[in-house]
Amino acid sequence: MQKPDPRLTTAKLKKIEDIAARLNIEGLKRAGREMTGPCPVCGGHDRFSINSDMGIFNCRTCGGGDVIRLVELVQGCNFKDALQWLCGDAEVEISAVEMARREERFKREQMKREGEADKYRQYARKRAHAIWQGAVPAKGTMAEDYLRLRGLALPEFPACLRFAPDLPYVKKINKKSVRLHSGPAMVAAIQLPDGRFSALHQTWLDMSQPKGKARIFDPDGNQISAKLYAGPKKSCAIRLHTPQGADTLVMGEGIETTATAWVADATPRAAYWAGVDLGNMAGRQIKEKGKRYSGVPDLGGGADGFVPPAWVKRLIYVMDGDSNPKDTRAKLEAGCRRAMARRPGLVASIVPADMGKDLNDMILEGARHG
Ligand SMILES: [Zn+2]
Repeated sequence: MQKPDPRLTTAKLKKIEDIAARLNIEGLKRAGREMTGPCPVCGGHDRFSINSDMGIFNCRTCGGGDVIRLVELVQGCNFKDALQWLCGDAEVEISAVEMARREERFKREQMKREGEADKYRQYARKRAHAIWQGAVPAKGTMAEDYLRLRGLALPEFPACLRFAPDLPYVKKINKKSVRLHSGPAMVAAIQLPDGRFSALHQTWLDMSQPKGKARIFDPDGNQISAKLYAGPKKSCAIRLHTPQGADTLVMGEGIETTATAWVADATPRAAYWAGVDLGNMAGRQIKEKGKRYSGVPDLGGGADGFVPPAWVKRLIYVMDGDSNPKDTRAKLEAGCRRAMARRPGLVASIVPADMGKDLNDMILEGARHG
């Protein structure tokens, strides 16, 4: 067997913010524990972020990973060259003692990072929960008007949706919390597998806009998303509807897409949960050469994304067509395979929405032309 390259450990000990600077990644602004900005490869405004605590990065389009993956992406090189770029030539001789010392240091560093990240998660969860507790049931509020405007007359009002009449929209910009907007918002509880509250999904509303969402701008005048989530969302879901005795779970990415399938009663007696984002629905994937996303789930410890509860015998992922279809499909496939691996006997499938539109856009169009 080939001995592992000691440079791997050395590379992973490097601080990701230092590597980002060495790669001349510009325009990143601090937002909480992350730095966010345009992707050095595909651009945009805020789709790219690095997390110094975890030593990882993510681009909503290109994907993410550790320092080595970052070098591969930005330099457009392979793993071997990325390692070379980070650590120089392979060290021919390295003593077992030195190797053990480096591994020990890496483990310590990793435990420290994870400890800090966990502390921050607890703090973020507590803050999100305070907003949730201050919000009122959504029925009869602007949140209900918003869903109706989106073509969604819900058969019953989910307990996981609430309304906050005047919620500040706060983003960290250059280490300072900046209030970019304040106003009415629909908020949704994002729940852990055991049902506990973990994070909050927030959608700022403005009923004078065609789609009912507030127009929010960053200090540079760029329009930014009217949605923000707060708190840790990994492995979680927004549980819109869970009927007694359900054995099928229909899951879309967003609240609107998932509620659309529910209102259409796509699958009678099914539960309808939103997966919050594709990364959570997919979980981590095994890297395959030449592919951005392999569609193969990494089933190693700590790498899990969403896993359906034990009562789910049939899992249906609704595929939005509004982002890169090939990548989206690979992510959903990884999620389906993860679910089938974790829940033996479960059958998972992907239902594509019309190309280029999410299900909710399709309903709206039907209403306009019909
Ligand atoms: Zn990118």
